[in-house]
Amino acid sequence: MLGVDLVMRKECATAFCAVRPPGHHAERRRAMGFCLFNNVAVGAAHALEAHGLERVAIVDFDVHHGNGTEDIFQADPRVLMVSTFQHPLYPYCGVDNPAANMVNVPLAAGEGSDAFRTAVVERWLPALDAHRPQLVLISAGFDAHREDPLAGLKLTEADYAWVTHELMAVAARHAQRRIVSSLEGGYALSALGRSVTEHVRVLVEG
Ligand SMILES: [Zn+2]
Repeated sequence: MLGVDLVMRKECATAFCAVRPPGHHAERRRAMGFCLFNNVAVGAAHALEAHGLERVAIVDFDVHHGNGTEDIFQADPRVLMVSTFQHPLYPYCGVDNPAANMVNVPLAAGEGSDAFRTAVVERWLPALDAHRPQLVLISAGFDAHREDPLAGLKLTEADYAWVTHELMAVAARHAQRRIVSSLEGGYALSALGRSVTEHVRVLVEG
């Protein structure tokens, strides 16, 4: 909520919230998957209610599906969620009857940069441009990194820098450059640190 307030008041263009525990598995009435409160969903709700925004986007590149965010905002046309995640993998959902405002792109274990970037270009970006979000929120999990022990995707720091550049361009087109990113998963600590460094570097330098 502070991050949303700072970017909405133009005290900064972008914000990164180095928070734990993560949030995107927490549903309306249930904590799960290390997550107690759905941080990015609270931020989105705050942007809609306190700042009067009409359209926000939540981008989720954590290796696990953000079931909590989907639970909270499915069928709410003010919120577009775009995501990639490994499937099948915990929490074993995201591919069955997603709501119209959910763009879920499952990836298979072993896939990496090419599949991820294709998903972003072909699925996320057209949906984001159609939605024209006034604020871009990121569920920034880094457990799709090739060194992460919890899953089998093969992303690298370069992929996180690339997708951050793409999201900066989306925010520049539609959201007055406003981005609030919140840390989700990431369990290989060296890879997590290197990946967050690249993500934040692009958020700061553009
Ligand atoms: Zn995760």
